[in-house]
Amino acid sequence: MAWFVQPLQRKDTCGNPSGLWRLCAESDEGGGFYAGCEHDHASPEEAQDCLDAQRFLGGITGFPHMELSCEAPLPLTFDFTDEEVAAINDLSRRQDLSAIGVMRQALRMYQISVLGAPDLGQMLPPAE
Ligand SMILES: [Zn+2]
Repeated sequence: MAWFVQPLQRKDTCGNPSGLWRLCAESDEGGGFYAGCEHDHASPEEAQDCLDAQRFLGGITGFPHMELSCEAPLPLTFDFTDEEVAAINDLSRRQDLSAIGVMRQALRMYQISVLGAPDLGQMLPPAE
């Protein structure tokens, strides 16, 4: 199955071009049609550059937008329980680290204790 990702001009309720654009993905084998975002972009270029649409369609098609995959990593969102958040905040306070510092240290500890730090060159640097 192939995906075609391109800016398409929306049609108004009468089926006429509306002058508003969205980045859309359509598959050639019945995988569906998806609009990347709910914005009203004024040009195909603007729709093409919409990060929300690129992220959403990257998830649909399995092919993250090139710029996204080469640039800075996307922020991750975690669904921690209240207890886990409290534990992170507690560690953050006691270790004088930011929450992300605690998570970095946890990742490093995981590499050492679970993976056995097989290759020190591949380990993340120490938490700040
Ligand atoms: Zn958009």
